[in-house]
Amino acid sequence: MTDQYQNIFEKDLQYVFQNYTRQPIALTRGAGAVVWDVDGKEYIDCVAGIAVNNIGHCHPAVVEAVRRQVGELIHVSNLYYTRQQAELAKGLVLRTGMDRVFFCNSGTEAVEGAMKLARRATERTDFVAAEHSFHGRTMGALSVTHKSQYREPFQPLLSKVEFVAYDDVEALKGSVDQDTAAVILEPIQGEGGVRVPHDEYLRSARDICDDAGALLIFDEVQTGFGRTGRWFAKEHSGAEPDIMTLAKALAGGLPMGAMLAKDEIASRMQKGDHAATFGGSPLVCTAALASLKVIEDEKLVERSARMGDYLMQGLKDLELDRVTDIRGKGLMVGIELEVKCGSIVDYARNHGVLLNCTSDSVLRFVPPLIITEEQIDSVIEVVAQGIKEIE
Ligand SMILES: *Cc1c(COP(=O)(O)O)cnc(C)c1O
Repeated sequence: MTDQYQNIFEKDLQYVFQNYTRQPIALTRGAGAVVWDVDGKEYIDCVAGIAVNNIGHCHPAVVEAVRRQVGELIHVSNLYYTRQQAELAKGLVLRTGMDRVFFCNSGTEAVEGAMKLARRATERTDFVAAEHSFHGRTMGALSVTHKSQYREPFQPLLSKVEFVAYDDVEALKGSVDQDTAAVILEPIQGEGGVRVPHDEYLRSARDICDDAGALLIFDEVQTGFGRTGRWFAKEHSGAEPDIMTLAKALAGGLPMGAMLAKDEIASRMQKGDHAATFGGSPLVCTAALASLKVIEDEKLVERSARMGDYLMQGLKDLELDRVTDIRGKGLMVGIELEVKCGSIVDYARNHGVLLNCTSDSVLRFVPPLIITEEQIDSVIEVVAQGIKEIE
């Protein structure tokens, strides 16, 4: 290990909360679908900051826009208007089919906003969420996150939450009633292991909510902005939510979240009901506006669909033992293995590919949407070798 590494690792160990299981590299630079570590070693990045860097690392359009904005105005709070925030709100409304936007700083905050709005708008208390769901780590969002390992040390959470099997219409029907404020679902589950429901599932969820007078929240924090081969994953089903949450790729790598709603729901939020000091600052809005333009100009949504098919087919053609399922949409792909995938992640990293493992045995691929066929070929080769090595 080089001195540089030793130095970074020692400082982290001494001064940083040890709540993350980190991989033993330190990254210094990124461009497109590639990142470099402090030793200058190059990696094809199929993690992309956990589905954040959809337009690639340090896209010149975002870098340029942020560079200009940072010298002009960084932050003023929501006591004042800014042009950037108004423009971004319009851009998001046009692309999502929602009517209004509330800006915050992360996915979990967007979910908190959605849950507060659902209670405010319905004057009901209960939530229904899915097994294997992930909606964030703050108390409200954690209450609708399924994994017991994340929840148990922090009980009591919100008590009025019921979890039902994902992609199971009857189970959902059985649990939504007159007390349900909202059903919250990921249109494709991310952290839970890249689980893709049948198209009718989300449409049925819509009907079930309508029948009970409950709201439907789609958490598109991970699936948004072209990730699944559509602007938003809800488009695969045609189902429309009342409330939608966004974050991750929203601002081209800068931290930002957003909660969107239909007008008749959004209008139930009263002045003073909710707020975020940093939400929708001119700097972050500038980054998001530039990022949306890149996705459009470079046709990254279509590219995600095409490259996703290419990746999925390449993985399927390997016909590997120990692989029980390969699934996903666009460039959100998971390989389910019979074994835990930690050693394959290590093998891939040592051979120049960054991957992560979700739900213990699912290797997840969420690369920048600008990844090339040649890069995908290299990734497939390394992964194939990595899976063979464990035998
Ligand atoms: C990552 C994620 C979150 C939480 O986002 P943070 O920015 O980490 O708070 C919420 N929902 C989904 C679907 C996610 O993938």
